Amino acid sequence: MKPDFQPLLKSLSLKTTPKRIALLEILDDEKVYLSPEAIWKKMQKLFRSIGLPTVYRILDELHEGNIISRVLHPDRKLYYYLCRNEEHHHHFICVSCNKVEDLHFCAEKEIETLVVKGMKGKVLSHILQINGLCSRCLTEQVPAHG
Ligand SMILES: [Zn+2]
Ligand SMILES: [Zn+2]
Ligand SMILES: [Zn+2]
Repeated sequence: MKPDFQPLLKSLSLKTTPKRIALLEILDDEKVYLSPEAIWKKMQKLFRSIGLPTVYRILDELHEGNIISRVLHPDRKLYYYLCRNEEHHHHFICVSCNKVEDLHFCAEKEIETLVVKGMKGKVLSHILQINGLCSRCLTEQVPAHG
């Protein structure tokens, strides 16, 4: 079933435009994170004259609205991912095949203790992303013996 992104955009006071919807649907189809260029290529199939700056602009708007998340890759390029799991959680990303898995782990209490008791500060938010290799990539990278 196709999700209805219209209420989501409306809640951010963003107009429901075909381009915003198309971009969300492209990301929603994927269980991997995509680069703006890869998203642009897919968008061009629907909107032939769309430019990369437009794709960047929509990605920025949706990221600011917390609809999509930015993936910080060790290659220092930015990627985007759409997760519809609304519970607080973090992501495990495979740096090899771009797969994203939900990680139901959070060190919130430990961080809070360190900051409040140790530093006498206050936590406002936190970002946690685990970079690694998924089980499939790990198996493929093991050199064959014999
Ligand atoms: Zn992988
Ligand atoms: Zn997620
Ligand atoms: Zn957390």
